[in-house]
Amino acid sequence: MVQARKYVLVNYFVDQPKPTDLKLMEEELPPLQDGEYLVEAEFFSVDPYMRIYVQNLPLGITMIGGQVAKIIESKNPDFPVGKRIVGYLGWRTHTILNPNIHQSFSEQKPYLLPDIGDLPSSLGLGMLGMPGNTAYFGLLEICKPKSGETIVISGAAGAVGSHVGQIAKILGLNVIGICGSDEKCKWLTEEMGFDFAINYKTMPVAAKLREVAPQGVDCYFDNVGGDIAGTVIYQMNLFGRVALCGSISSYNADTKSLPKSTILQPAILLNQLKMEGFIARRWLNRWNEGIMQNLQWIREGKLHYRETVTKGFENMFDAFIGMLHGDNTGKAIVQV
Ligand code: NDP
Repeated sequence: MVQARKYVLVNYFVDQPKPTDLKLMEEELPPLQDGEYLVEAEFFSVDPYMRIYVQNLPLGITMIGGQVAKIIESKNPDFPVGKRIVGYLGWRTHTILNPNIHQSFSEQKPYLLPDIGDLPSSLGLGMLGMPGNTAYFGLLEICKPKSGETIVISGAAGAVGSHVGQIAKILGLNVIGICGSDEKCKWLTEEMGFDFAINYKTMPVAAKLREVAPQGVDCYFDNVGGDIAGTVIYQMNLFGRVALCGSISSYNADTKSLPKSTILQPAILLNQLKMEGFIARRWLNRWNEGIMQNLQWIREGKLHYRETVTKGFENMFDAFIGMLHGDNTGKAIVQV
């Protein structure tokens, strides 16, 4: 008998999530039936969407999230022992999967991790997974960038942001990142190839942006929303494009206490800007294209990655809250 450990949601998050909102429990798994296979989690992803998405799900569910897991027992020839899958199975160590039954909060079914050679399989949760495809499709399909243009990326030192900036450099753009520490700024300009980086906690963003982008901003990849978004949007050029990817600056605020922010309509109207929200799963039918292109860029040395790895399933919550507070550079991962 296999004992799974899992985190169950016992309270909805109010403002900052608390450790007592989740309860670590054990579950005894039954023997496998024909067609089923058993996976053991190796890496978990902690992501900003978890903070808000879970609020619409019933209490008592396993805390949501993606994982890379190894198949350790199988009665399904399409999922042989030893292969790895990427799936939205939640914060649980062991799971029995049946490809004919939809077992996830996400519409995306678990899939076999493509062969990525000697690269770490945790990349299936980052550059070669959902954040990587968010960067790839969000930038190409929503920002529609052209060589020589200027792009600003907020949340620039995180999983999605650091990836967007690097693709933008591959495409020949002038790339400016906004993030929350001097160390992150240094990493972006010295290792990730960004042209400039602005620390929004210590620098006046509007003035600094006018200085480093006197020609104005053509594309804005928005990961944070709020005041930073307002500041960037007011410095955009005619027919600029805004890819609204995330709004993390308000994820820990209740709807009753949402922060006030700038009225954007005059800037959008006068400069005829296009602003479009998107969710990466819009391109589920092209998922593999994004993974393969990002894999190729990694192999060519054009894309670099960093992971902030927390060890231990018992530290899931700390990794989650740490990511929300900006402790991560690159992708936040938990290694079991
Ligand atoms: P990150 O790796 O970027 O981690 C989150 C980062 O957000 C932190 O490291 C922190 O960095 C920053 N942050 C936290 N609070 C604030 C704040 N108040 N103001 C500005 N920055 C803040 O996460 P991801 O790359 O996974 O996600 C980035 C964004 O993209 C999120 O908004 C997420 O919801 C969104 N997203 C959207 C998807 C889609 O399909 N639309 C898919 C995946 C992600 P710092 O030190 O710089 O403050």
